Amino acid sequence: LVSRKKKSEDTVININGELIGQGKPSFVFGPCAVESYEQVAAVAASIKAKGEKLIRGGAYKPRTSPYDFQGLGLEGLKILKRVSDEFGLGVITEIVTPGHLDEALDYIDVIQIGARNMQNFELLKAAGATNKPVLLKRGLAATIDEFIHAAEYIMSKGNENIILCERGIRTYEKATRNTLDISAVPILKQETHLPVFVDVTHSTGRRDLLLPCAKAAIAIGADGVMAEVHPDPSVALSDQQQQMDIPTFDAFYDTLQKFMKNYEIH
Ligand code: PEP
Ligand code: MN
Repeated sequence: LVSRKKKSEDTVININGELIGQGKPSFVFGPCAVESYEQVAAVAASIKAKGEKLIRGGAYKPRTSPYDFQGLGLEGLKILKRVSDEFGLGVITEIVTPGHLDEALDYIDVIQIGARNMQNFELLKAAGATNKPVLLKRGLAATIDEFIHAAEYIMSKGNENIILCERGIRTYEKATRNTLDISAVPILKQETHLPVFVDVTHSTGRRDLLLPCAKAAIAIGADGVMAEVHPDPSVALSDQQQQMDIPTFDAFYDTLQKFMKNYEIH
């Protein structure tokens, strides 16, 4: 169902008025984790100031260590909903188990399925049975074929609104947190009719690489870029190394807009 052979025209997904996959790159910014109303609202204000329509933030955090911050759960979803209503932003947030889906649906606009859950087939099927768009991230060590099959699980349950997100894969290279597989973007665009995003934050794990990798993503034809923004990354409860503070985000955004203009990407 996700194959280009099945449907030749690009899938376009309308999220809060943002048309994803229509040609011009979309942007998803927001903190790694929802920590407080004030924290999310500060980031929302900076996103809104750029005229962007979407915000991300994790309420259920899939952490490597069980002793690290696990997210605010339902409380976090309520914060996202409040910010969404106040700032008019569509909310993208990760759901980690089918058991949380029902309670989450009232608060969110897009279900994110994280890298660690790309082959959680029960979660894929449950998300596929909802009417919310799904942002599906590539697994830590998933091949492109496995990634496409994961999207197929979602669509097989009737949900056609799926965004694929390349977020780096595990290789022997330690200079970056993961290795951004940039050629996955045109391959996924050729093989499927779905919009393809690049998460520059989790693929690189390095603040200094966010801008060049975002440029690369846009230049190679990505439909969107995701990056993390926090009012004060030095005190963030997760991903301190790679979130942008708000002035850095402002510069990142403005530089990308100029880049797109120069290359007539619109
Ligand atoms: C995230 O986007 O919050 C996240 C945990 O990313 P990933 O699933 O790609 O590691
Ligand atoms: Mn993160």
